[in-house]
Parts: sequence; structure tokens; C-alpha cells
Amino acid sequence: MRVLSMFLSLFLVLPLAAAQVSDTLDIWVIDVEGGKAVIVKNPSGETMMIDGGMPDMAGRGGGQGMPGRGGAPGGAPGAGAPGGAPGMPGMGGAPGGAPGAPGAAGAPGGAPGGGRAGMPPQAGAPGTPGGPQRAAMPAEKDRDLNRVIAAAKLAGVNAFDVYLVTHYDVDHAGNVPNIAGRYPTKLFVDHGPWLENPKLGAMNKNAGDAYLAFVEGKPRTIVKPGDVIPFKDVRITVLTSNEETLQKPLPGGGQPNPFCPAELLPPTKGDDNASSVGTLWEFGKFRMADFADLLQWAEMKLMCPNNPIGTVSLLMGSHHGMPASSSPALVHALGAKATITNNGERKGIAPDVVKTLRSVPGGMDIWQLHYSTMAGAELNAPEEFIANMKQQECQGFAIKVSARRDGSFTITNLRNNFSKTYKP
Ligand SMILES: [Zn+2]
Repeated sequence: MRVLSMFLSLFLVLPLAAAQVSDTLDIWVIDVEGGKAVIVKNPSGETMMIDGGMPDMAGRGGGQGMPGRGGAPGGAPGAGAPGGAPGMPGMGGAPGGAPGAPGAAGAPGGAPGGGRAGMPPQAGAPGTPGGPQRAAMPAEKDRDLNRVIAAAKLAGVNAFDVYLVTHYDVDHAGNVPNIAGRYPTKLFVDHGPWLENPKLGAMNKNAGDAYLAFVEGKPRTIVKPGDVIPFKDVRITVLTSNEETLQKPLPGGGQPNPFCPAELLPPTKGDDNASSVGTLWEFGKFRMADFADLLQWAEMKLMCPNNPIGTVSLLMGSHHGMPASSSPALVHALGAKATITNNGERKGIAPDVVKTLRSVPGGMDIWQLHYSTMAGAELNAPEEFIANMKQQECQGFAIKVSARRDGSFTITNLRNNFSKTYKP
């Protein structure tokens, strides 16, 4: 009898003990070729999905080249704009019907680095202003959905407690209905209805409209600055949303920001990026900021003349490393130890952004989801900090962050398992 009860109590205790072994906040930053897709798991086991990359565009024209923002190419209204109604709700409703998930995001033991030899940086027009800043149009069916599925498997995630949709551009919101159709989701969080947006291109408009139609009638919270997004173990404070910014400094913040320019950038309307839901994550002493695609004028509106946040440990790279974001007023003032840029092979890693990232006082490591052929060897991070070296047959390796309450965190490149631990 005693043996039996011991046996039984072992059974009862073990799963609990196992669940408590990992007291880390784990974050998988998924390569969606210049879009955004992130899975987060807290120590209590709650999960969050942030954005989701592009919808299925296979066979909808062109192997590459969708507008990074705004205008669908030749967007003649009614001319069958490319990417009409991306993200059909209802698709893939049955969880579990996972299509093959090629290229598991970060199967450990992936061949360490193909090496730079195979990919001479294309010297072509690095950082031509106004040059192509494009996310790759998925040629492979459900490319980004498959990568999210692979990462979710890796994370042991079958459902989401929170789905944070930072804004409605196609490389963020376009895949949300597909992902949320597959994974039961308890709560959607977003910035609310479209603001007036006269420059909105067809592809982004379709993606946003499809998401807004999809979320109709589902549990949803529209957040404003100062709100806290419910997620166990972590305090997630909304810093920006719908072009509004936090007014009252957080505890420890509010000091004058020496990195503000003499003249702030004026607001520019007609760009949903400026509506991005920006957040501060506090897990014990670990602090992370993520501004999605927030534009520089909105960064300055938040950070000038006083910095309401203080410093952070980790900064999720803004806007794929494109020059419309990442002002020194934001990046230098936050003084992160590391940043992870969600760039694509031909999107982001702009010279001005790299310059800003490299000149953070105290130094900051730059991790990239992709090698940028546009940027060339000089502007790319060292190879071990890059998760994917080429777009052709790209396996879509993720970058994983494990943060601890003491403020320390480890970043791991799931392509080669190179990792680095940052002290508190
Ligand atoms: Zn984007």
C-alpha cells in the first residue's frame, strides 16, 4: 500500500516538477523572408503568436518582389490586384492537418554554415535610396505557414493564448487567418480599425481587410498605450498603438533623451506601419522592446524629449532593418545588448540602420534572420549571427531567445547552434 501511494505520488509530482524545470521565457523568431512571425512561451506554459508572415502566394505571379509597403505594382484598381483576399479564413480549420512542414525551423544539428564562399555578396546597388526593399513572394505553397508550423512543433505549441497582430501589412497580418484557423486562439490583440490611409496599396489593404473580417466576433482586445497585455510571468506594456504613444513614463523612465534630434520628424499619414503595436516585455529583470514596423516619426514621438522606458536588454529589430525605422532616438536610448533583425535576403539591412545599430553606446550584437545580398559583406553581421544564408532552398531557420528572471538571456542560431549568453 505504501509502495503504491509512493508510486502514485511520484506520478502526481513528476509532471509538475518537469513543467517547472524551465523557468525561462522562450522566444522563437521565425524566418519569413522579411516579414514578422514570432512564437513566445512563458514559464507557465502560456503561448503567444506575433504576426505570421505572408499568406500563401504560390503561383500568384513573380518569384519575388512584392512591395515592402504600400503600392501593389501597377495597382490598377479592379485589375485583379495581386494577392486578392489573402488568407482565406476557414482554410485549414482542422488542427493537426499539418502539411509536411518542410525545413523544420531549426532542426538542431543543421549543417553548420554553408559558408560565405557559396554566396558572394551581390555588389548591386547597396542601399540605393528608394531601391527595392522587398519581401520575397513565396513561391513555395504555404511557405510561411509551414515555417510557423515547424517552429510551433519545436516549441511544443498547439494553441495560442494570445495572438498579437502588430499591424495590417501583408507581411505581418496576411497569414494570421491561416495560422489562427489551425491553432485555437483565445484572444486577439491589435491596434483597432484602419486609420485614414490614402497611400495604402492593394496587397496590404487586402491583407488588413481579410484580418479585420476574420477577427470579427472573436475575442479581441484593441490596445492603447499604457495597456498591459495579459500573459503570465511577463508584464507586457503597450508603448505604441494606432499612432499614439505612451504619455506617462514607466517606473525608472522619464529622463531626458540625449539622442533626440534638434527637430523631430513630423507625422506622416497614410502608412499603417506607424500604427504598429509596440511593447515592452518585463520578465524579472529581463527587459525587451519590440516595435514591429513603427516609423521614425512615431519612435521620436514616444522617445522625445524624455525617454519613458529606460534601457532594455534585448531589442527586437524594427521594420526588417529598413531605414524608415530605427532612429538613434530610439535605438541608442534603449541601449540593448543585442538585437534580432527580421530582414530578408533583399529586404532590410540598410546602411543607415546598420550604422545606427553598430553605434549603440556600450555596443550591441546584431543578429539577422537572413544574409542580405543587397547589403554586401561589409554591412552583414558575422556569419554565425545569421540564421539563413540564402533564399534559394532556404530552410527557414529560426533564432531562439531564452530569457531568465535575473536579466540574463541566451540567443541561439538554430542553423548552426551558435549561441551567446548575455549577462544581466
Ligand atoms: Zn513589415
